[in-house]
Amino acid sequence: MAMRSAAQAGSARPPAARRARAFDPARYEGELAALWAELAAEEGARGGAPEAPLETLQRLDRALKRHPRDGRGLFSRSELIAGYRHLQRSGRLPAGLARDETLWLERLRLRPVRTLSGVTPVTLLTRPHPCPGRCIFCPNDARMPKSYLSDEPGAQRAWDHHFDPYLQTWSRLATYRAIGHPVEKVELILLGGTWSFHPEPYRIWFVKRCLEALNDFGIDCERRPPAGAPVADFAALPRALDLRRGDAAYNREVGALLAGALGAGLLHDSERASLAELFAVQRANETAATRCVGLSVETRPDHVDAAELVLLRQLGVTKLQLGVQSLRDAVLAANRRGHDVAATRRALRLAREAGFKLQIHWMPNLLGATPESDLEDYAQLFADPGFRPDELKLYPCALVASAELVRDYESGAWRPYADDELLALVAGCLERTPPWCRVSRVIRDFSSDDIVAGTRTANLREHAERWLRERGRPARDIRAREIRGGRADPARGTWSALEYETSVGRECFLQRTAGRDRLLGFARLSLPAAPAPLAELGSAAVLRELHVYGASLPLGTRSEGAAQHGGLGRALVEEAARLARERGYASLAVISAIGTRDYYRSQGFRDGALYQHRALGAGPQAPRA
Ligand code: SF4
Repeated sequence: MAMRSAAQAGSARPPAARRARAFDPARYEGELAALWAELAAEEGARGGAPEAPLETLQRLDRALKRHPRDGRGLFSRSELIAGYRHLQRSGRLPAGLARDETLWLERLRLRPVRTLSGVTPVTLLTRPHPCPGRCIFCPNDARMPKSYLSDEPGAQRAWDHHFDPYLQTWSRLATYRAIGHPVEKVELILLGGTWSFHPEPYRIWFVKRCLEALNDFGIDCERRPPAGAPVADFAALPRALDLRRGDAAYNREVGALLAGALGAGLLHDSERASLAELFAVQRANETAATRCVGLSVETRPDHVDAAELVLLRQLGVTKLQLGVQSLRDAVLAANRRGHDVAATRRALRLAREAGFKLQIHWMPNLLGATPESDLEDYAQLFADPGFRPDELKLYPCALVASAELVRDYESGAWRPYADDELLALVAGCLERTPPWCRVSRVIRDFSSDDIVAGTRTANLREHAERWLRERGRPARDIRAREIRGGRADPARGTWSALEYETSVGRECFLQRTAGRDRLLGFARLSLPAAPAPLAELGSAAVLRELHVYGASLPLGTRSEGAAQHGGLGRALVEEAARLARERGYASLAVISAIGTRDYYRSQGFRDGALYQHRALGAGPQAPRA
């Protein structure tokens, strides 16, 4: 087995965190103090009156120009934030600013939308590994986990850190912090190939290392972790595979490299952890300053079974991303998915019984599909209780050079939908999405240089929403309704419940809305018709998701008018408990994340092995506002 070698080089591109760290605020203390003093004085003159974001930006730009870095260039936002923290540490922060760091950082956030759903998402990629799929639309970049291209933003970050979960997590947190985002509540999103196909010790180790990074970052975010080295020389692998060598070229190339470097188990000694080791790190994260409040992995329907779901819960997974792609066996077969629709139904039912949040990946424009059949399928996703996902990534098939679909494109068997066809299809899908489902993504994040054929319109959702608005039929999925950064008083909101049938019983989407259907928060409550196969759940009602909107705020802080932390989370738990009790359930189980266990304990839940439980009729009760 090969040893890790630091000499095995990755990309020469410096990681984002390293670039951010290169700035030394102490060197510019005078300029930064003057700049912040000016901002404080202007704020004082305005008396803290509310201001449109554009005005804030204009005011900031003027101040940046008046206080240039080195007398020439402008300080970047991340440098400005680094300066704020340096002045705070050295006690030189102007008095007017010291009162509310959260407010200032909120205004200076470079990409505020990232944390407006309530938590800070940290996306990580597993390392290259064979995949059981043979899907003809899937990219084959052997330097990446299956289905990812090195040009994608997340992929580049993973490459920079040799796919090391600890370093990826740390650097992402450091970048978020540098640009002013709170990093106390983190959703870990683990992507790459088929999660369940990695060796079990690797999966346990991967999650353990992510959590260790969260724990360590919460203790000392200034400590730079040591640089890592790859477990195998991934740089020796070809970016684009020779498709004339037949299918499974990715598996052959990656499998051969890993077998040569790591032995038949395709696993380095350093990539193993036991469940006992993981549980110890999880316990530390329950009360850490940076907590994991959500964990999702992506896998295939035919790799979901009862044992896998138990392991996912042991890892702390709360959301499953399931590659569904099509609801037609003929289309699945033509695209060599290797599973049928029955497998999808089965996986969704098992995962729903186990209380997971269900996000599916659905791909229109596959070989054998038409815009009409796709729209029918999409409607079927919600008409049929066997599907009905909570969230959806809608990825129109885009052809990349390394996908085997190239042959069908060249032979004329496949063509991408024309732009107007695709726009009408996506708009039709959005229109058919019920208000309890969230379309989280429309279009895959490929760079337009990688796309051989297919849409390059990155903001397709925006176009589709406009298309619908112009016809008086606005989208009403969760994403279109969530309040995001808007201000609203949760106490003035209205309760309602959207109820529907699922493969396991009834589902209740409890929501609090304000104004014109703006979503302040919601809970997903599963009311099973029969006991779950998992003994721990038994006949309990299951709280599958609790989501409160508003910009992500540090734990224990409040922002005036923001939906988060307004007691809405507690009220949603009580509404769910009240409803479950009314329907005759004796207990309520919650599929809590590692970092929310403490919160649920405070709401009257006690720890089980995989879930937390509350006997109904006991525990805190809130009046229904
Ligand atoms: S299962 Fe997913 S990652 Fe694997 S080949 Fe199919 S699409 Fe690609």
